[in-house]
Amino acid sequence: WKERKRKPDWMKRSVPGGEKYTQIKSKLRELKLHTVCEEARCPNVGECWGGGDGHTATATIMLMGDTCTRGCRFCAVKTSRAPPPLDADEPENVSRAIAAWGLDYVVLTSVDRDDLPDGGAAHIAKTVQLLKEKTGGKLLVEALVPDFQGDRQSVGLVAASGLDVFAHNVETVPRLQSAVRDRRANWAQSIGVLRAAKEEGVRVTKTSLMLGCGEAAEEVLEAMRLLREAGVDVVTLGQYMRPTKKHMAVSEFVTPAAFEAYERAAREMGFAYVASGAMVRSSYRAGELYLKNMLS
Ligand code: SF4
Ligand code: SF4
Repeated sequence: WKERKRKPDWMKRSVPGGEKYTQIKSKLRELKLHTVCEEARCPNVGECWGGGDGHTATATIMLMGDTCTRGCRFCAVKTSRAPPPLDADEPENVSRAIAAWGLDYVVLTSVDRDDLPDGGAAHIAKTVQLLKEKTGGKLLVEALVPDFQGDRQSVGLVAASGLDVFAHNVETVPRLQSAVRDRRANWAQSIGVLRAAKEEGVRVTKTSLMLGCGEAAEEVLEAMRLLREAGVDVVTLGQYMRPTKKHMAVSEFVTPAAFEAYERAAREMGFAYVASGAMVRSSYRAGELYLKNMLS
């Protein structure tokens, strides 16, 4: 019965379009940048990219290629045990292109690269450093990073890069980790990475939970309590959407009222910032919200 469930009205949003969107897209091709916003056909792109009018222009850029060494059950990214080697020029090229785009806030994300000794930490850190240099430190940078198999040195490298927000997604509640994520990922490792980042002096740490994977409300609340105990500052909660029929089914469409209740609970627990809603994605309007709430 789960397969036949139809999207409720609150999940319907039109596909991005319009002149401004088309202009930005062609500029991105010129700059050779790959955004998650486009690849994931994110419905929030109009809001995120649309800088001006008091809005902060935000985008999510993918580093380290399009092939992941892991295979999570919810994720549509290509998988291989041996992806192509890193492009050593990527930190320079990507930072130059992002600086030319004129964003206010950028999220750098990547596939997991378990084939590399440092999981790609030095590559990510270099990109952040160059971005800060090229924008005179004005651009706010969030790095949404892998778990580096829990390697403290890799976490330390990224934490010391000059980033503004260290993000790593726990994705789901502790009980459902092995049903949802790749077998090399788990709750203890991920929460350990977030805790370590804070200990390494990162000012803001952030994580995301996908709802609708079969979790109970009490499990969501407990997960958030554990995250707060690990010093996590920001949590986002969104609805899981199945990318193709081959991926894990949606167990439930969480109602707007339930998202609101989670948001209230998270605020009471002391998170500095919470975004909770069906269409919320980990980087949803990130710049605007952080700028106003935390980093100013
Ligand atoms: Fe997708 Fe990340 Fe899992 Fe790789 S580690 S399969 S990119 S969610
Ligand atoms: Fe891009 Fe994230 Fe905004 Fe979606 S929510 S448009 S992926 S920055």
